[in-house]
Amino acid sequence: METTSISELTALWGRVLKRLEDALDKQVYETFFKDSYIHSIDGKTINVVVNSKLAAQIIPANYWQQVGDALADCSQTDYSVRYVTKDDVASGTQITPAKPAFFSDSYIKPEYTFDNFVVGESNRDAYQASLIISQNPGKLYNPVLIYGNSGLGKTHLLHAIGNTIKLKFPKYRVLYVHAQDFLNEYVKFVSGDKEGISLVDWFRDSVDVLLVDDVQFLANKKSTEETFFSIYNSFYTHSKQVVITCDQHPSKLNGLDERLKSRFIQGLPLSIEQPEEETCEKILKMRIEANGLNVDDFDPEVITFLAKTFRKNVRELEGALDRLLFFAVQRAHTERITIEIAKSAVMPLLDVKESLGTLTAERIIDTVAEYYNLPSYQITGKIRTSQIALARHIAMYLIRVKLDLPFGRIGAIFGGKDHATVINGVNKVENSLKTDKGLQKAISDLDKRLK
Ligand code: ADP
Ligand code: MG
Repeated sequence: METTSISELTALWGRVLKRLEDALDKQVYETFFKDSYIHSIDGKTINVVVNSKLAAQIIPANYWQQVGDALADCSQTDYSVRYVTKDDVASGTQITPAKPAFFSDSYIKPEYTFDNFVVGESNRDAYQASLIISQNPGKLYNPVLIYGNSGLGKTHLLHAIGNTIKLKFPKYRVLYVHAQDFLNEYVKFVSGDKEGISLVDWFRDSVDVLLVDDVQFLANKKSTEETFFSIYNSFYTHSKQVVITCDQHPSKLNGLDERLKSRFIQGLPLSIEQPEEETCEKILKMRIEANGLNVDDFDPEVITFLAKTFRKNVRELEGALDRLLFFAVQRAHTERITIEIAKSAVMPLLDVKESLGTLTAERIIDTVAEYYNLPSYQITGKIRTSQIALARHIAMYLIRVKLDLPFGRIGAIFGGKDHATVINGVNKVENSLKTDKGLQKAISDLDKRLK
């Protein structure tokens, strides 16, 4: 975990000191380390105030290893430490003042770009505005607000803007921040030692392009909203680009300060709608190829089926595809991805009510029993002849795959078997499926019966 806010760092240093106290000679510890504290952070460098000029020289020369080990153990991050004295801090020459944590590293994700954003009617306005903004930050459209339901690509566009600006204007300091992180940091910042700078000043001096995700999180947080309002205004007056996203049109946002609301509406509100089926198909194809697979190995109905079924939310669409890919690799072992495979793979994701009839563990057990000419109670019972054991394992496997039940619960259905027994059964089927043609046929027949 990366620990970056001052209050977190202070706690971190406390833990480091504890370790040093154990690791070092008592006198050394008390002389050099005891009342040291964290002053600030610069990227990955922590500025630690020690009690004398000598300590500032001795520690890095002699105890760097102990400090480094303790720090790495406590933080899992490769911080380096700069030792300074109170005088250095007062003269302000060596170190920079405390910063809000969200700028110590930029959170822009390189994987979200314009290249891998599929454009359709549903998102064209938002896409085009984002593209133009990236070419001329602060000039044409400012501020801009992108709104729409969850999973439709708002965050993706924000990052794409950030990535493009960073590439095209390397000098611009671009900050992506989720509103929730802004809130958290705001709270820490006002309660902590802020070295006399206000958050508004800090933003004015340190950020050129501000990308704020999910501003609905600011609703009902009065003082944070006020600060945000000032930051927003300062960017606006200085023609610095601001892009924000929201899960709905700001006029509908309850609990948001009216001034902020009207500011947001004055900006350019652009909606992202649910994608067309065609857009979804393109997204699927792009993602299949990005996974190193060939779209031609998928029956066209598979793509249509997924696009139709999961149109509401691209995140879910991607989740369904990932599941199918996983399933295809793990279980089906077939070159061709058919609609049957696709349906069984995503079955657990479908709302049972609106899908293919209710599939329950009982129905699976009954179907398997019928297929093998056995009474159902033997499937869930204890007899271990090979035929019955096979049927039992197949039933466990199908329940696991189709209903996604935890192993322990499956065990309970099978007369209180423990979860290791279930895992063992499911694994047996998975392994045999790789080579056993008869078993492959049985599973595929059962699949059809369970539709
Ligand atoms: P939101 O922020 O609106 O909730 P995200 O931007 O997080 O949605 O998008 C959810 C997922 O869907 C992300 O993985 C994103 O890359 C993907 N996605 C959404 N829209 C598109 C699109 N038009 N083209 C490609 N991927 C998309
Ligand atoms: Mg988002």
